[in-house]
Amino acid sequence: MKINDNGKIRVNRYYVQSLCMLFFPGEKFSVKEEEIREGEPTLDYSVTREDDIVSVKVTLSLAGKSETHIAELEVKNGVGEEKTAKLALGTAMYYAGEKLVGMAPAWGMLVGIRPAKLALEMLAEGRTALSVRRQLRRDYLVNPKKATLCIDVAQNERAILEGIREDTCSLYISIPFCPSRCAYCSFVSYSTNRLLSMIPEYIDRLCRDIERAALQMKRAKKKLLTIYIGGGTPTVLTAAELEKLLSCISRNFNTKRLAEFTLEAGRPDTVDEEKLRIAKAYGVTRISINPQTLNNNILESIGRRHTAEDFYNAFDIARNVGIKTINCDLIAGLPGESYPSFAKSVDAVIACAPENITVHTFCVKKSAQIKLDDPGIFKRGVNDTVKSVDYSQLKMKNSGYKPYYMYRQKNAVGNLENVSFTIDGHAGIYNVLIMEENHTIFAVGAGAVAKLVRFDENGEKKLERIFEPKYPYEYMREDEAENEARYNEAIDRFFFGK
Ligand code: SF4
Repeated sequence: MKINDNGKIRVNRYYVQSLCMLFFPGEKFSVKEEEIREGEPTLDYSVTREDDIVSVKVTLSLAGKSETHIAELEVKNGVGEEKTAKLALGTAMYYAGEKLVGMAPAWGMLVGIRPAKLALEMLAEGRTALSVRRQLRRDYLVNPKKATLCIDVAQNERAILEGIREDTCSLYISIPFCPSRCAYCSFVSYSTNRLLSMIPEYIDRLCRDIERAALQMKRAKKKLLTIYIGGGTPTVLTAAELEKLLSCISRNFNTKRLAEFTLEAGRPDTVDEEKLRIAKAYGVTRISINPQTLNNNILESIGRRHTAEDFYNAFDIARNVGIKTINCDLIAGLPGESYPSFAKSVDAVIACAPENITVHTFCVKKSAQIKLDDPGIFKRGVNDTVKSVDYSQLKMKNSGYKPYYMYRQKNAVGNLENVSFTIDGHAGIYNVLIMEENHTIFAVGAGAVAKLVRFDENGEKKLERIFEPKYPYEYMREDEAENEARYNEAIDRFFFGK
């Protein structure tokens, strides 16, 4: 896509590109003349100011058709020129894009911020749900259903966050291995036999890091609140490997005191009774078994290598073993999946009565195989995806589930959201904590990112990230003494100013 900025006032380019992706998901942005493809969309815009009025003119063009919209906004006290320019540009883009493409983005012109975070900030100012809803509708052009969803999520998130003490922390353990690669995956996860053979050595390294993390938490004067073993597919480990990992965790932490201990199993075909009995015995309270869809043809076409039957079996095992909270992930809008087919999956998963259900919207990243094979993937199935997401939200509500965390990803079909639902008393705390970034999270394993968080004397948040190497082979080659020193230095400096 080509962008021409003809105005006097500059607007952050990344923001402009994000607005473009509301109407043209998956587009790349041409910088040089020779990169421009014939018939690709073009945005011409200008932002100018006279006295207190910011004016924006937007022309969007595609395949010989153009639409122009002009928006004017007053620079009000406390808002400033930059934010006013962004709001005006978003408004003009929304109306020009709606006319050109024939689609009104459900989240209006809201980009670059999590909707629930925005709503939480407004609620924290003491505003009522009604006034937040009005602002989402008026300033950001969010559709009525999404504005209501956003406020529901913010209120449920707030209830979870209110109970979190500042002297607590969480631990994330990364298992970036999978039994096969899903066609839509862009995550760094090893799935060939040669790479899977690294697992025993990887677990040894993880165990040494878990021991160190326990010492680092003491150093930071933090008490462990939640553990999340994520992937990849953590249950790709054999029962013996899983036991080795979990026994290391229980030697280093009092898991009985945790508010939550999640093992994100993931793929149903990797779950068996022995592994889940071990998980339960070592204190796991929450497990994620993810069918994504219960349509076997779609599962096969996206390379999941498991069937709907595998999901039911895995679910029954988790129930019989007595894991307190079971989460199931679904994806709306998978290539080839129709609305009626997805609705059946929603109904079937609800009929199993898991405590948590997370509905993602299909989203393709650059490095996913499926995008490379099919660059037109975003343009199909939008209507079915919109209906699928709407259906899931209505059905969850009518079945007693509440939305408690939500995020959006770039390049999601129809710009739609990912929402997690829960029955009362089972919300996944870690998911909210990682989203809000108000809580320290130690992290071990390849690709893991630790987040140190504190609030200064003015209540202002300070956050520092510590990155582990992205690939397992790099992680295993890392100098462990150096890594330990790096963590200790960061903790001493960040928390205690040493
Ligand atoms: S299970 Fe998840 S991490 Fe593994 S390949 Fe599939 S999408 Fe990627």
